[in-house]
Amino acid sequence: MSNYKLGLDFAKQLDQNDQLAAYRNQFHIPKDKNGNELIYMTGNSLGLQPKITKSYITQELEDWANLGVEGHTEGQNPWLHYHEFLSETMAEIVGAKPIEVIVMNSLTANLHLMMVSFYKPSPKRYKILIEADAFPSDKYAVESQLRHHGYDDKDGLILWKSRDDEELANYEDLETILKNRGDEIALIMIGGVNYYTGQFFDLKRITELGHSYGCTVGFDCAHGAGNVQLNLHNSGADFAVWCTYKYLNSGPGSLSGAFVHERHANRKDLNRFTGWWSHNKETRFRMRDEFDQLPGAEGWQLSNPPILSMAAIRASLDVFKDAGFDKLCLKSKTLTGYFEFLINRLNKSDIKIITPSNPEERGCQLSIQVKNADKTLHKKLTETGVITDWREPDVIRCAPVPLYNSFMDVYQFVERLKTIL
Ligand SMILES: *Cc1c(COP(=O)(O)O)cnc(C)c1O
Repeated sequence: MSNYKLGLDFAKQLDQNDQLAAYRNQFHIPKDKNGNELIYMTGNSLGLQPKITKSYITQELEDWANLGVEGHTEGQNPWLHYHEFLSETMAEIVGAKPIEVIVMNSLTANLHLMMVSFYKPSPKRYKILIEADAFPSDKYAVESQLRHHGYDDKDGLILWKSRDDEELANYEDLETILKNRGDEIALIMIGGVNYYTGQFFDLKRITELGHSYGCTVGFDCAHGAGNVQLNLHNSGADFAVWCTYKYLNSGPGSLSGAFVHERHANRKDLNRFTGWWSHNKETRFRMRDEFDQLPGAEGWQLSNPPILSMAAIRASLDVFKDAGFDKLCLKSKTLTGYFEFLINRLNKSDIKIITPSNPEERGCQLSIQVKNADKTLHKKLTETGVITDWREPDVIRCAPVPLYNSFMDVYQFVERLKTIL
């Protein structure tokens, strides 16, 4: 959509025509002290709580109260199989096959587990390539993997930097790095959607490029899952990880998802860390058998999982299934396009959107750079009832989420920003 208009009436009209508008009522929207709904623009950091989540968790608390250990098999949703209830919808959202997806552990822990299998350094080829402004946890994780294998983390890390005076990473630069040093690189590990700029990378292009130089390729899709169509299977990536507390609305510190491409489903030659939950389900409780690897992503599990956290994920995935992820992505493009239009129409030379303007290269987040601003801008926004995320030195990250943010939210946010500026 490109024929956006200014003004309050147009925002109202967009909300009226929005077939997904009612989903907002399925979420708890945080309020200020006077009971007014806040404008919540930080679904990229912690997604809001679906109203049904409480009942999903309560169900498991009740089964635990009434059944004790029997809940593993006799519960309404037997805990023994609980992770299986999540895999199909989760796989749909990330564009994978159910056998390629597992919900387990937390995000950085999964990133390490994936690197145990897919970072196989040799004296000639041990380097790891990441984007220069990767999320700190990812950078720390890959550095520690280098050290773990006895390599120097400065020498071993190759950074894909943006050019001087540019914010976004450029594929030509990645091609140049690979042409010059591709045979030194064991692993390419990139944030699928960059947390800072909101740039959504072409996963397939990066994967094909990496594979053509003999590198394994993985993505951290924390800012992509539930936000954009990742198409992980078709990307050909070796692995991916993501969290469920950002766009997947499953609660603070909730479990992570992991993707392992189908072609690795039955590989016994890969290194991995294992536990009883990676062992064959049929014989797991005989307890004495030799280890027998489960096929697919399930085979990377270690422990029996936290059911209460999974109940929240299940509730959230049911909301996604009901709304339809394709439809949400369509709305997202209109909502963020409208946001971009309003920001650009402020006609302020000190404001720049650093997120790509091509809707195919971004999700819902816009990162707005306000030159010469400092954190007082963020404080003022907060005082007017807008929750945004401030990143030093001068960027506000705002994510209108199609499940619960309205066009009116976007309109009001820009009005308040205008007043403050
Ligand atoms: C949010 C986020 C994390 C956080 O990691 P946790 O292990 O869940 O604390 C890591 N990496 C990226 C890219 C993120 O966006």
